[in-house]
Amino acid sequence: MTISPFEGITLALSKGRIYEDTLPLLQAAGIVPLSDPESSRQLILPTNRPDVRLVIVRASDVPTYVQYGAADMGVAGKDVLLEHGGEGLYQPLDLGIARCRLMVAVPQSFDYSKAIQRGARLRVATKYASSARNHFALKGVHVDLIKLYGSMELAPLTGLADVIVDLVSSGNTLKANHLEAVEEITAISARLILNVAAWKLSRSRMAPIVDAFSHGVASAMTGRTNTGIQG
Ligand code: ATP
Ligand code: MG
Repeated sequence: MTISPFEGITLALSKGRIYEDTLPLLQAAGIVPLSDPESSRQLILPTNRPDVRLVIVRASDVPTYVQYGAADMGVAGKDVLLEHGGEGLYQPLDLGIARCRLMVAVPQSFDYSKAIQRGARLRVATKYASSARNHFALKGVHVDLIKLYGSMELAPLTGLADVIVDLVSSGNTLKANHLEAVEEITAISARLILNVAAWKLSRSRMAPIVDAFSHGVASAMTGRTNTGIQG
């Protein structure tokens, strides 16, 4: 198999909310995908601009594609970037999309502050091992981390863990599983990320896209403010 060289700009995105929320920003940059990743099985999506293409990867793989230059730029949640570490990446822009919070959550029957006061050793199940480790280390709480890849809510219900560290937006999933958030670790939103070397070599081709995203973010914020005033 031969790999056809692509001379343009490759942007890495994940399906779902990141893709949906990035579409208006792409539009602001004059970039329109020619197919929909939700309905097509294509992983490389051409756009209306022959010099720009999208690649669709797992949310947690976006920083890796950009770090190694397989994509020149991408959109990744801060949660994912914290776990990745950010090596080889510039993070010039908080896009203000896919907002949620990284939180510690426990069963409603579990007295978290008492457990902390007692100096109990906590079993923590999470997909966000690095962020969780840092958080509890700063608090001086001893933890055994149990790495999971999804459905963290199940862990305390089955006795796998005492607490979980997970993303929370409405809190409805926690509530449905008799869990409650007890501590915020950090606010999360998605960031534009750039490959450091690509930015140095192809700045003139990438900068207009970065600028358009930046303007798109600013006008979305203005729109939000206006809606607030009118509402
Ligand atoms: P995968 O399904 O491939 O394991 P994922 O579950 O992280 O990845 P998404 O659910 O699409 O993929 O989440 C992508 C990003 O959106 C996350 O990295 C996070 O930054 C943000 N996000 C996750 N959950 C929420 C939420 N409930 N509300 C808002 N943003 C969220
Ligand atoms: Mg998800």
